[in-house]
Amino acid sequence: MDGYKLEMHLHTSRNSDCGKECPADIAKIYADAGYNGIVCTNHLNRNDLYGYVAPPWKRLFRSIPDCWLRDLLELKEECAKVGIDVFAGAEVSPDEVTYYKPDHPYAEFLMYGITADELRENCERFLTMTQRELFEWCDSRGIVLAQAHPYREMCDVMDTSLLHGIEISNTHPGHDSRNALAVELCKRTGLIPTGGSDFHYRGGEGGGVILPRRPNDERDLAAILRERRHEVIFKENEQG
Ligand SMILES: [Zn+2]
Ligand SMILES: [Zn+2]
Repeated sequence: MDGYKLEMHLHTSRNSDCGKECPADIAKIYADAGYNGIVCTNHLNRNDLYGYVAPPWKRLFRSIPDCWLRDLLELKEECAKVGIDVFAGAEVSPDEVTYYKPDHPYAEFLMYGITADELRENCERFLTMTQRELFEWCDSRGIVLAQAHPYREMCDVMDTSLLHGIEISNTHPGHDSRNALAVELCKRTGLIPTGGSDFHYRGGEGGGVILPRRPNDERDLAAILRERRHEVIFKENEQG
């Protein structure tokens, strides 16, 4: 396929218990699968940040945000060796929608266009933001905020007027993300369609998007998405 093959939803092993592959292995897996780029969208929620990421590694780093950024920066290094670009990103679940509370709503938001420096400075603050605050923060900076797998079991569809995009194809093999419903929602609302593997372990790769060209950096990636000339990759038995 022509174009620039980009993974837009990926997790690494040292950012959450659910991620099983380290950056060096991910670089090999994605080189074999013919990708040109990866957006690293590690989980950003209070449980993973202070319960999984910080305890084992905090003493090795200056700050908790530095621990959280560890795998992104290492993935960038490892992927550079095999000619794959790595862009910063996040799958944020602020306190008001985290799964680690007793009641709904439950949701996760993907951030595209945010830089590693902006994540370092703001990642802890995002946890206390409302969807409106998060949207306005992103909107004023040209960052794309998209709801991840809105129709997955457990998840609630959030206010689409406070989103730029919808993940219409999440190809995680361990979940039924009911992508067809997300496609419908995206068409109805006119939001930007996104897609990704929600990669957690070997064999989970394969999803993402095809961009018309290579992004120069994170902000340029967001600009390309807003042009909507990209194509979302679906599993064989689904279509967009
Ligand atoms: Zn996960
Ligand atoms: Zn995810």
